[in-house]
Amino acid sequence: MTGKRFDVVIVGGGCIGSAAAYFLKSEAGFKGSVLVIERDPTYEFCSTSRATGGVRQQFSTPENIEIGLFGAKFLKNVGEHLEVNDEKPSISFREDGYLLLGTDEAMPVLRENHALQIKHGAEIVWLERADLKARYPWMHVDDVPGGFLGLKNEGWYDPFGLLAAYKRKARAIGTEYLNDEAVGLERKGGRIVAVNTKANGRIEAGAVLNAAGARDAARVAEWAGVSLPVEPRKRSAFVVSCPQPMPGGPLRFEPNGVWSRPEGKFLLCGVSPAEDADPATTEFEPDHYLFEEVVWPTLAERVPIFEALRVERAYAGHYDHNTLDQNAIIGLYPGLENFYVATGFSGHGVMQSPATGRAITELIVHGGYRTIDLKRFGVERILSGEAVRETGIY
Ligand SMILES: Cc1cc2nc3c(=O)[nH]c(=O)nc-3n(C[C@H](O)[C@H](O)[C@H](O)COP(=O)(O)OP(=O)(O)OC[C@H]3O[C@@H](n4cnc5c(N)ncnc54)[C@H](O)[C@@H]3O)c2cc1C
Repeated sequence: MTGKRFDVVIVGGGCIGSAAAYFLKSEAGFKGSVLVIERDPTYEFCSTSRATGGVRQQFSTPENIEIGLFGAKFLKNVGEHLEVNDEKPSISFREDGYLLLGTDEAMPVLRENHALQIKHGAEIVWLERADLKARYPWMHVDDVPGGFLGLKNEGWYDPFGLLAAYKRKARAIGTEYLNDEAVGLERKGGRIVAVNTKANGRIEAGAVLNAAGARDAARVAEWAGVSLPVEPRKRSAFVVSCPQPMPGGPLRFEPNGVWSRPEGKFLLCGVSPAEDADPATTEFEPDHYLFEEVVWPTLAERVPIFEALRVERAYAGHYDHNTLDQNAIIGLYPGLENFYVATGFSGHGVMQSPATGRAITELIVHGGYRTIDLKRFGVERILSGEAVRETGIY
């Protein structure tokens, strides 16, 4: 570390902290120094490493649609954005779309969402049951009227590859990374003046970004004397094989929330637990019952050859669950002059990392949003309890 004072200190070097560092250091109007404090350079337990890596625009709030569009365009061109020494990183982006299967009951809401997505520039089409049958003859669709499919800018990629690319680029353009644990903040009046670390002691900060993720963002906020409604919620993922060749196709959301997508020669799949079986937890044991009781029967009903699925590997990670409305919390903490937060993404943080990195940069450098207006995702709504409801959360 070259000094003990930085213009911006970021606590947490996952996809959010690293995206913020990259966007800040790339901003022509910003000449300051940036330090990212990350306690685990292997990233073994962070959410980013365990994410599915989906990106979509099939949301119900304009902000999430626009964030998803910006995210997809960034991810598709990640080689140009994050190139270092003529090396273009690859994150294996697959633009194969999301297929959201509807039910008659859900159709009014889904149609309304679809109209909004189109209005904001997303390329999502409605496929009638007959269209689905023609496009995916291996799928049973008699139980659904049809589905919504993203033709462009939706799909998946390697989230860890993205994190590594952000970090490499952020360092190449001057960000310092410190392998240490932040253990406290020093607040003077309305300012955070320093971050205390376990091994490197006190580091003075011009501004602090709390990007500490699912298990720590609320704790870091407490050090500043404020609070955030973010807690870790476990999400299990199953890598499964099938004796017969796997059909390809998009990332599919079933009406009951089961999701699945190709993963090489395997299928990656999962489902969120029911709300009353979804406590805050810091453990990582996958919930195998979800595969047995929900995921497998659902997939086997949809695709008959999936009756013979076999679990090859299962793992769990943590959503940074925002208990108020499961939407991102991005902005300057009210009442504090220099304490920014970017957390609470509740399952969408990787796809939202490009827009979030840019948004935090705009706030720090310009004092307000220049591109997507994310004021509705600010901390103010948390303090007033006015939820921004998103119906497209899975
Ligand atoms: C199973 C699963 C599937 C998902 N699928 C998707 C998906 O398809 N699309 C999508 O967009 N999102 C998805 N997500 C959500 C996404 O992973 C998260 O929203 C996102 O990774 C959050 O990024 P982050 O940088 O805030 O947190 P993290 O990646 O958790 O990074 C936070 C970092 O902060 C560090 N840290 C914390 N406290 C301290 C401290 N005191 N000092 C130093 N370092 C500290 C941690 O070590 C960690 O590396 C999924 C998540 C899971 C678990």
